[in-house]
Amino acid sequence: MRKRITDNHMHIYNNLRLKALKQFRDAGGTHVFLVSLISPHYGIFPKKGDDFRFIFDEHLKLVEQANEIVKAFAVLAVHPAEITILGDRMGYERAAGIMKDALELAAKYVEEGKAVAIKSGRPHYGVGGDVWRLSNEVMEHAFRIAREVGCAVQLHTESYSYEGMMEIADIARKSGIELEKVVKHFAPPAVRDFEEIGLFPSVIAGNGNVLSAAEQGDRFLVETDYIDDKSRPGAILGPKTVPRRIRELYDLGYEDVAWKVCVDNVERIYGVEVD
Ligand SMILES: [Zn+2]
Repeated sequence: MRKRITDNHMHIYNNLRLKALKQFRDAGGTHVFLVSLISPHYGIFPKKGDDFRFIFDEHLKLVEQANEIVKAFAVLAVHPAEITILGDRMGYERAAGIMKDALELAAKYVEEGKAVAIKSGRPHYGVGGDVWRLSNEVMEHAFRIAREVGCAVQLHTESYSYEGMMEIADIARKSGIELEKVVKHFAPPAVRDFEEIGLFPSVIAGNGNVLSAAEQGDRFLVETDYIDDKSRPGAILGPKTVPRRIRELYDLGYEDVAWKVCVDNVERIYGVEVD
């Protein structure tokens, strides 16, 4: 049986760059979702939504190069922290407006077939009530436009809590998007909880999480959130982690789960072809 091994969330930045994907491939990795970074990493300060075009185009160039190594899909992010990065200088209402416009631009790229998903969410750090409210509005906007173009939303949020995820699921439900297309990035292996909540977990592949998730079911994806940042070596999981953990599932008799997680779930959620 030919193995498929998919990492649902990786970044390429300023360290190994494409070498990270060679390591991923050499360890058995076949498919990867590459997510664009926050605006400062591209050396720009967006003053309008359309300024994200530069970021998205840079990212797409990178994904094109990545495709010479493995099958790579582009996810276009308007990172929730942009509310602080932009808002501290121009006011939070205006920042939220720019983020919404940028998400619409991202969705346009998806419609054109250049990317497969968008990324939104809300800050993982404490913010004031106004910023929190605006962030929720931006996230809801992401759900609405993703529903319109029929794509998935990768979610960057505060640390997992059942209540917090339920709240997000309620916001998603109101927007009309299928809950399964709302993918909680950096999720713990709480597979059964997520079945109840409805959001789809992308389980972070450290600490025996993948095996723990597989023992509960097969409704999940896996990721490293590899950040490829020179200034934070070893702060995250390396590019070989998902291939290793998935091969471990095969070795332990969880080949059906491995296939579901790396192929079936990915195809259904993102509408892409893996096998
Ligand atoms: Zn990330």
